[in-house]
Amino acid sequence: MRGAVIRGVGQKFEIAEVEIADPVGHEVLVDVRASGLCHSDIYVQQTGGMGFSMPIMLGHEVAGVVAAVGPSVSRLKVGDHVVGAALQPCGQCSGCLRGKLWACRNPGALDREPADAPRLRDDHGPIAQLQGLGGFAEQALIHENQLVAINPAMPFEQASVIGCAVATGGGAVFNVAKVQPGDTVAVFGCGGVGLNAIQAAALAGATRIIGIDIQADKLNLAKRFGATDVVDSTATDVVETVRELTGGAGVEHAFVMVGVTAVADAAVQILDFDGTVYLVGASGTGAELPLRISPTDTTFLPHQHGVRGSWLGSSNFYHDIPMYVELYLAGRLNLDDLVSQTISLDEINEACEALERGDIARSVIVFPADS
Ligand SMILES: [Zn+2]
Ligand SMILES: [Zn+2]
Repeated sequence: MRGAVIRGVGQKFEIAEVEIADPVGHEVLVDVRASGLCHSDIYVQQTGGMGFSMPIMLGHEVAGVVAAVGPSVSRLKVGDHVVGAALQPCGQCSGCLRGKLWACRNPGALDREPADAPRLRDDHGPIAQLQGLGGFAEQALIHENQLVAINPAMPFEQASVIGCAVATGGGAVFNVAKVQPGDTVAVFGCGGVGLNAIQAAALAGATRIIGIDIQADKLNLAKRFGATDVVDSTATDVVETVRELTGGAGVEHAFVMVGVTAVADAAVQILDFDGTVYLVGASGTGAELPLRISPTDTTFLPHQHGVRGSWLGSSNFYHDIPMYVELYLAGRLNLDDLVSQTISLDEINEACEALERGDIARSVIVFPADS
């Protein structure tokens, strides 16, 4: 089968003929039908970040159809429509048993043993998978714990982006911040993840939702996803503007989708009483957030401010992914405007460049049903 392989840090995708193993144990062979391109893929491609080995098959927003199952698979069957999740829950540790799949204490438990034949290989040797997925290929071999069956009425392109963009942005709002009706929200960065935080905040009943970005196109999209106000941070002082928009109060929830120190610092400065900054987007190496904790020159301590990390929206994806599917099918979740363009596998390098330039919210690679 064909796949887009990254052979080393900083290299472009190479479309290669890749050998995929038969499913054993709890593994599921998926005919990939749609695969979203996310900033985290580019982050790993360019920096080797998160410690994955190369060569690697990236792609962690995967939707497709089950083509074959290993003998121990119990939850899925051939023909099921599935979405992959970029978490690898063992299902047995204290984290998993509490439903905190992101807090699994056994990373790597779902991978094959190093001594076993690799799931993916080509003439040059084994190929790793990003987070056990590897969606930039015609097929993917994935542990069943990372897959969720969805309503077959759901189109694959829109289903694929649920795996990361929707789960990360929506989950930050629903699961981590637990935004309530009447709350005030700011979102720094209106790309795929940010737009989903905005529409989740609208669904949750937030009354003020401020989208902040450096690009007019994204700010226009932010309005379509439910932002009540938008701020172009190249044209105005964000801290002052958000204070003005909120009558001086600031916001209760500030989501940072861009891992840049100055952005996170601005988020801290626009908090209302009891407000929290949520760090959602992957950070550039070495980025730091200085916290001024003296009550005499900052509100951080006396106003009970907080700073929290948010990892894949703290998702329990067995529950959350079908929920997002049903919201979409009911016309209450906008995923159509999120899928900015569909491309073929051969166009992946151009789509990466467009994503880096910030031209578009999401490119989704589609694979014809007969491939
Ligand atoms: Zn992602
Ligand atoms: Zn676990």
